Amino acid sequence: MIETLSSLGCKVLKSEPLSMHCSFKIGGPADFFIEIPNELALSEFLRVISAGRFYILGGGTNVLFSDEGYRGTIVRLTGSFKEISVSEDEILCGGGAMLSDVLKTACKNSLTGLECAAGISGTVGGAVYGNAGRGDKWISAAVKSVEVYKNLKKELISREKAVFDYRKSGFENCIISKVVFSLKKDVKKDSLGEISKNMQKRLETQPLNMPNAGSIFKNPDGFSVGKLIEEASLKGICAGKAQISELHGNFIVNAGGAFAEDVLSLINLIKEKIKEKFGISLEMEIKIIK
Ligand SMILES: Cc1cc2nc3c(=O)[nH]c(=O)nc-3n(C[C@H](O)[C@H](O)[C@H](O)COP(=O)(O)OP(=O)(O)OC[C@H]3O[C@@H](n4cnc5c(N)ncnc54)[C@H](O)[C@@H]3O)c2cc1C
Repeated sequence: MIETLSSLGCKVLKSEPLSMHCSFKIGGPADFFIEIPNELALSEFLRVISAGRFYILGGGTNVLFSDEGYRGTIVRLTGSFKEISVSEDEILCGGGAMLSDVLKTACKNSLTGLECAAGISGTVGGAVYGNAGRGDKWISAAVKSVEVYKNLKKELISREKAVFDYRKSGFENCIISKVVFSLKKDVKKDSLGEISKNMQKRLETQPLNMPNAGSIFKNPDGFSVGKLIEEASLKGICAGKAQISELHGNFIVNAGGAFAEDVLSLINLIKEKIKEKFGISLEMEIKIIK
């Protein structure tokens, strides 16, 4: 497998520390870490991996890897999957393109509709998979179609056929290879103003100076998890070098050398206390990868 994929331009790493590939800076080694540069290599990878275990990773900004790492192959899309192009009021991009680059392209071309993506790190694939957004504004509103690889077959799925919901897209077990965003040409709309307001709010309310993976839990209907955690007096609590952020209760930060086990024990503590105090069962937003 290694020779075939290397000959197609893939970068194949063995025993790669996953802490180097996620915003939490936590995680043991993956047996293999493969960067796939184009569709030919992706098709070949899916053929040779066959029933082997693999996981598609974007920017790693919404995941927690285990301390033992991953027994199998972690895959990341690079090369042509990072390309972005504009055609009238549409932006076509690869699943590995950075969301921030897509937003910059939209601004440069006076295209509006992606403002909710401001300050969200990671890739287009990760954002569409998790229907990223802010409040009740989600990236799915701007999606026209998504190209995915599923069971060795390539499919084009329109927004209407996808099952977008809060932090949900229905693209489980798929590799998102391309996305078309349908935007609005609007030179008058103050997109930059809205984007910089979003960014300023993040700077004030999120612990951006410490490694983290964004919101740990989804907000239950009608509640803010951050506020519930604050009301339960859980902010600031530590387990090893992991800490429930003092700034935002729904963030756990790595104060330097935290283990996944530390983060998991804080997650369990929060779940238990919120259930006890408010009768609410919290659902995970971050993906725990073992
Ligand atoms: C400081 C901070 C603030 C954040 N704020 C927000 C916010 O306001 N709103 C929000 O929604 N999120 C937020 N996040 C979380 C995160 O940035 C987003 O969820 C982001 O869209 C994840 O993209 P990623 O490429 O990093 O995905 P990853 O973390 O790499 O992966 C997340 C999931 O997407 C899947 N995935 C990734 N790429 C693909 C692909 N090509 N095909 C299929 N599946 C794929 C993975 O398998 C995994 O299940 C924040 C994170 C941080 C660190």
